[in-house]
Formats: sequence, C-alpha cells, structure tokens
Amino acid sequence: MNHRFFTLLGMLGVLFSLCLAGLPSTGLAAGWQPELRVGLFFGQSGAELQVNVPAVLQESDTEKRKVFFSPGKTMKIAVQSGKLMVDGKRTDAAKLSLRPQQKASLNTMQVTVNGKTYYGGIQILLRNGGMTIINLVNTEDYLRGVVPREMPPEWPAEALKAQAVAARTFALKHRKRHESEGYDLCASTHCQLYDGTASESESADAAIRATSGMVLMYGKELINANFHTDSGGMTESSQAVWGNHAPYLQPVKESATKTFPWKQSFSLENFSKQLAKAGYPVGTVKNVKLSKLTIGKGASDRSASGRVKIMRVIGTKGSKTIEGNELRSMLALKSTLFDVQLQGNQIHFIGYGFGHGVGMSQYGAKTLAGSWGYDKILSHFYKGVTLKKLY
Ligand SMILES: [Zn+2]
Repeated sequence: MNHRFFTLLGMLGVLFSLCLAGLPSTGLAAGWQPELRVGLFFGQSGAELQVNVPAVLQESDTEKRKVFFSPGKTMKIAVQSGKLMVDGKRTDAAKLSLRPQQKASLNTMQVTVNGKTYYGGIQILLRNGGMTIINLVNTEDYLRGVVPREMPPEWPAEALKAQAVAARTFALKHRKRHESEGYDLCASTHCQLYDGTASESESADAAIRATSGMVLMYGKELINANFHTDSGGMTESSQAVWGNHAPYLQPVKESATKTFPWKQSFSLENFSKQLAKAGYPVGTVKNVKLSKLTIGKGASDRSASGRVKIMRVIGTKGSKTIEGNELRSMLALKSTLFDVQLQGNQIHFIGYGFGHGVGMSQYGAKTLAGSWGYDKILSHFYKGVTLKKLY
C-alpha cells in the first residue's frame, strides 16, 4: 500500500518539477535534480583530462576565455609560478569549470581525471599554490558512485534501495559541509565514499532508479540519515553517541541480537601505555570497573542499548574514568557494545556490532530485506520520518 502511495507522490513530484523548469515532458530523466560539488583531489600540481562529449572549459571567475575540448583529446592543467596553465598557456583565473557544450545536461558527460572517470564535469580551484579538483555531478549520478561503495551491490534489492535513500538524504542534508574549501562533500568516509564510475553496478543503479529523488524528512526538515555496519542487536540514540538529540535517531531493537561478534585483546602493558598517551596516567592497569553487558538493558555506566558510557580503570598509580567512545577510538574497537575481561597480563574486549550504532544498521537492513520493503526498513531505523519525493 505504501508503495502505491509513494509512486503517486513521485509522479506528482516529477510533474511539478517539469512545470517549474518549463521543460517539455520528454521523460523522467528531464526532471531537475540538485547538482553537487564533490572534492576529489587536493594540492595537485598537474592533471590530465579527457571527456566523452564535446565540452568547454571556462574561466569561471573572470569569464575571459573559453577553451573547447573534444573527445579523444587530452587537456593538461598545471600550476606554474602560482598560476593555472591550460595546455601550456597561462591564465589569471583561480577557478576553471569544465562542462558539456551547448547547455547539455551534466548527465550526458563523463570526465577522466588522471585516469579515473567520474560522472558529470569538474571544477578546478587554485588554492595554496596547488589545485583542488572538484567533481560537478547531479545527485542521482553521484549516488551511482556512492551506493556500491557503502553497501555490497550483491545484497538484496530492498536493502540497496534503503541505502540509496539514506545516502541521498545524507548528501542533500550535508550539502555545503565543505563550503569553506569550495565544495559540498568530500569523497571519503568523513562524508560518504565516492568512487566515480569505477564501482558502477547494475543492481545499485536499479535501486537508485527505483527510489529516484526520494528522501527522508522529519516534519519539514531533511533528516541526518546516519548509518553504520551492524548494531549488534540494538541501535543507539545520537544523543548517547554525539550529544545531539534527534527525535528520529533513537535506540531500536533488532530481530537478532549478539550479531557481528568480535574480540580484541591487548597486553596490560600496551593498554596502560595507550591510556597514559591519551591523558590517563594510572600506572600499570590492575583492574577495571564495568557492569556486565545485557543488550537492551541500560545501567549507570551503560546507555539504553547497553553500550559503554564510562569505564573505570584502576592502576598502580591511581584510577581514572574514561568514556566508551574515547576507548573505542583510542583502541580502534569495532563498537562500544562490549564486556571486558582481565586474564593474566591480557585485557580482552568482547563485543558485538560494528560502527557507532546510530540510525540504520546495514546488516540489519540486509536481514529485514528478506521480508520487508525498503520503506518499512527505513521507518524501522528512523523513527517518525516520512519518505518524500523531492524531485
Ligand atoms: Zn567530508
């Protein structure tokens, strides 16, 4: 039932955007969609470019010069004596844009930068004596380089659709995150992994097409669509992990618990050294104080899902309290959903799940995709949200 409702919404959305853009109704692909600027390379001294359609390089800030560029040719951009050089000719521009000719849509173009191919065009900024290379790409094409990097494309179709909606929402919510550096999003895990056409996959493309323009909203706002690898049995609130309250990012019980089990061990000597380095000089650790883990049961030192809030370490020179999140990053633990055991001169962290635990669990979505549609999966992990066709 939900599907039919969303399809109707979708058709209305497309009609609306076609009307807005004044475009002939030649097909769904003609609909407007947001253009993203994705930071690819930084501090480069040179780049070799190729295109698949006739393109034009323009000096965006001075608008002085246009260089036409055909498929089959290579264009060389370099920095020399603090100036950008285009095929050996000096330009005073600090910003160059490479787009398709004749106002063709960005969707029609692919550009190759030093051997790697991306959807859309590029922008080159002169910054701190080097070049920042930015991909100018429409949202749906951007997702084609993100979804297969964030979730294995052989996973079930409904899980891939849920991932596509979460990734689209995340990208549009965090547009302009890197504004001070001249672009919207970076291509690493800090924002979302993006690899251009290299990771292209038919199943991921199908999931993106099936959910085209669909985003998650809470009231009138795009949500912070956080996701992680595996919750271990219960997700976590954003409040507990990052200190910011979001009504839709609350702990959610999963059908299976104790998923993604892991064990990471350290010698007490090594553990003590790491603690001292992080500002907790307790001497050699002799004992730790932490209540026993029951998934879905909070305690004074654990959050509602059972993740470690604080742990007390007792050493030869004193004792200190350390936060679960800090322990996790200090020791590169898979999650904060763990128990601790001291055995001889070893300390063992025995836990479940992988990642911060906030929002959608990707392995959880994979399991649910066996019986649920992507819309139901998303409303399981993000409480009280609505799916909306944005374009
Ligand atoms: Zn980033």
